[in-house]
Amino acid sequence: MATAHRTSAASRLSRRLVVGLIATALVGAGTIATAPVAVAAADEPADKPKIVVVATGGTLAGKAAGRDTYTNYRAGTYPMSDLVAVLQPEVSAFADVEVVQFGNSGSGGYTFPQYHDLTIAVEDALRDADGVVVTTGTDTMEEFAYWLDLTVQSKKPVVITGAMRPWAAGDTASDSMVLGTDGPANLLQSIRLAASQETFCFGTVLSLNDEVHAARDVTKTNSTRNDTFATRLSGMLGWIDGSDVVINRAPARVLDCETNDWFTPFDLRAVSRDAYPRVEIFYNAQAAGGESISAWAAAGVKGVVTAGTGAGGISGAAGQARTAAARDQGVWFVSTTRTGSGSVSGGSGNIIPGGDLLPQKARILLILSRAFTGDVEQARTWFSTLGAPTFDSSALADVVSPTPVAEPEPTVEPTPEPSPSESAGTGAGDPPASASPVPSASETPAAVVGALPFTGGGAPGLAALVAGLALALGVVLYWQHQRRLSAQRGLIH
Ligand code: ASP
Repeated sequence: MATAHRTSAASRLSRRLVVGLIATALVGAGTIATAPVAVAAADEPADKPKIVVVATGGTLAGKAAGRDTYTNYRAGTYPMSDLVAVLQPEVSAFADVEVVQFGNSGSGGYTFPQYHDLTIAVEDALRDADGVVVTTGTDTMEEFAYWLDLTVQSKKPVVITGAMRPWAAGDTASDSMVLGTDGPANLLQSIRLAASQETFCFGTVLSLNDEVHAARDVTKTNSTRNDTFATRLSGMLGWIDGSDVVINRAPARVLDCETNDWFTPFDLRAVSRDAYPRVEIFYNAQAAGGESISAWAAAGVKGVVTAGTGAGGISGAAGQARTAAARDQGVWFVSTTRTGSGSVSGGSGNIIPGGDLLPQKARILLILSRAFTGDVEQARTWFSTLGAPTFDSSALADVVSPTPVAEPEPTVEPTPEPSPSESAGTGAGDPPASASPVPSASETPAAVVGALPFTGGGAPGLAALVAGLALALGVVLYWQHQRRLSAQRGLIH
């Protein structure tokens, strides 16, 4: 069942990739902007995709004190199987849903060994499923999301969701549902998004309030509003209107979809669940003291992210404490800004620039970096590559025409009508006099290109152009991958 869908999704993806790569080449933009791909009815899977909901709790599974109470509730109360039951029969129209109850508590209650286990649970589910939806509390959802984005070793869709209002106030999830709860809609739409396969190769995305955001960039911006999640610098990836999933941007890693470069070095099966060291965040402010940094270093903390003012500045006292901790205890520091957006650069030795990563996202990458390497230069490379993915289309300038290219004329002659004698042959058992069982050299290339499923057989000129562009892009992307591999050689296990 799932296989039939995957086959269809894979062919859809490869068409979409070709369209996306060509769009990127022609537009030279920082994001892939493609129109939603129409898929012929015959292309549709007969079976529904299998989606596993890996539930961890949060407000989504919360029980409220009353139907009109949004802020007084106990998070992580109802089991996910009961929540999915409320979505029936509607959800079964587009997905076969299975549930893994990983935990049931507030998002802040999870430890890094549990994060490790969560990644393994998601990877296990993705072995058979077409996509996974992870539910969690919204307070640290952006950290859950970026952790999964950096660690899950599967290109299948991973969607994280939750709710800002508790689900119900009764003894069961279908009893006394909270007035205006956003939980059921967020869960339904996230399953729809995962089932659509529209975010295949995107890594983890966050879906809430009908919006879709990249895990690396999204942040919680309001303590109580339903529209709390935002991607400040780049905007959302898309949205879901009713049953219409609209994705019109993509994380840069999608360009590596067809190669192993897509995967991060953080394969958690290579480390123990206790491998993650303590990393803290120092929040700078006017005339801030440096005692917290010194105390953390003395307590064995291995890394500190500084949320500096402006472009990453910290106070004189904090700066002195940082110098001492880096020198005496080998603490690694990552500089970020407390402004909520914008980049931080510079730094040497044990001080790594966090780019435009938010402090809480930089902390996740620093924890993983410290677990996977003892080499601060390796970590610096990861922050500037994995931590700062960008589209690099500069190499295309050498191989792709910046202006429209004339389409070559079709070269295939119309097939002549067979004459009666040709149809009849020259005698019993003889082949027709002019029959040619093998296409001649002159007619083969255009005919074959014209028959490619992507281009259709009716436009061989366009087909040849597209095939040529795809070939050129393949060469460029291969060259880029080789370049990237040599840059990272010896750094990735
Ligand atoms: N306190 C809750 C949590 O993060 C809030 C939520 O679920 O939105 O688990």
